[in-house]
Amino acid sequence: MLDIKNNYSLANITTLKIGGSAKKFVAVENLDELIEAIKFARDNNLEFLVVGGGSNLLISDSGVNKLIIQNKFSGIQQEGNILKVKSGTILKDLINYSIQLGLSGLQNLSGIPGTVGGAVYGNAGAYGQTISEHLIQITAFNGNNEENFTRDECSFDYRYSEFKKNHYTILEISFELEPSTEELLSTQSQEILEKRLVKYPTGIKCPGSFFKNIVASTLPQEIAEKLKDKIVYGKLPAGSLLESVGAKGATLGDIEIAPYHANLFINKGRGTAEDFYKLAKKYAELVKEKFGITLEPEVQLINLPKI
Ligand SMILES: Cc1cc2nc3c(=O)[nH]c(=O)nc-3n(C[C@H](O)[C@H](O)[C@H](O)COP(=O)(O)OP(=O)(O)OC[C@H]3O[C@@H](n4cnc5c(N)ncnc54)[C@H](O)[C@@H]3O)c2cc1C
Repeated sequence: MLDIKNNYSLANITTLKIGGSAKKFVAVENLDELIEAIKFARDNNLEFLVVGGGSNLLISDSGVNKLIIQNKFSGIQQEGNILKVKSGTILKDLINYSIQLGLSGLQNLSGIPGTVGGAVYGNAGAYGQTISEHLIQITAFNGNNEENFTRDECSFDYRYSEFKKNHYTILEISFELEPSTEELLSTQSQEILEKRLVKYPTGIKCPGSFFKNIVASTLPQEIAEKLKDKIVYGKLPAGSLLESVGAKGATLGDIEIAPYHANLFINKGRGTAEDFYKLAKKYAELVKEKFGITLEPEVQLINLPKI
């Protein structure tokens, strides 16, 4: 029997600690529960949205008139170099397990919060590695049946996957990793975790970087030439553009743009989605005016207009 809650505050389930209430909310631990939850949504004429760790969400203060389904299917199965992972598994648990087994391919993602399903949905990445790099298969639920996707069928791109278009629920993901040693992988992971602590100190309330970086090959040649020193891993950091229009340290209410990183919006305590949104929009417009570049949010905006 599902434990469906009414008017559930979504600030509870986001790393930003912002968000109004969901009309209905349920946490599910397996496919049967997911199917039951979707059936409940259909029977009650409600839309539904599956979320994971809530680490990439900006949810409006007025909440959502939907059933929010929090995915808690977890578990990892190993067959040689292949790891088959349930989508609600915490990414950190998967990375740690792969490191213990001496399997390489996920260690640079150390420190990214959330679930494996959420990471696959947005093709999360860091330090030159993406979650899709060693992915070989996905099983997803299309609302009626399970469907399998090969890597090539998932349209992975920078912070993009097919699941942003088809809205299927990602259920299980298989990765084929490469043999390495626990010692080497754990050193790499530790180094990354230490670097990340500078940007994301423990307890910070944020949704990660807010805007996507800009793929350098898509920039007008004149701008790419002018800003070429700033390009890292083939991307122009959105933070450098935001910094040049004065975003660092700006505040609105209890939302602050980090004084040390212009693409990091922090809830200092009682921040609201409205202030977050207005501040982000203001600096995106200034970037557009100065460089002619349209910044796009990396964070998923829920019940908020497009920036
Ligand atoms: C401190 C901090 C640091 C971060 N650093 C990075 C980083 O270095 N690189 C990076 O890429 N991101 C980073 N992020 C952003 C975020 O952690 C990642 O995008 C993460 O992978 C999101 O996973 P989640 O489970 O929290 O997804 P959620 O935030 O819960 O959901 C995000 C989206 O995924 C969809 N979704 C979730 N699960 C499923 C599923 N099973 N099936 C279908 N759709 C699903 C949701 O509907 C939603 O649209 C950071 C965030 C924080 C707070």
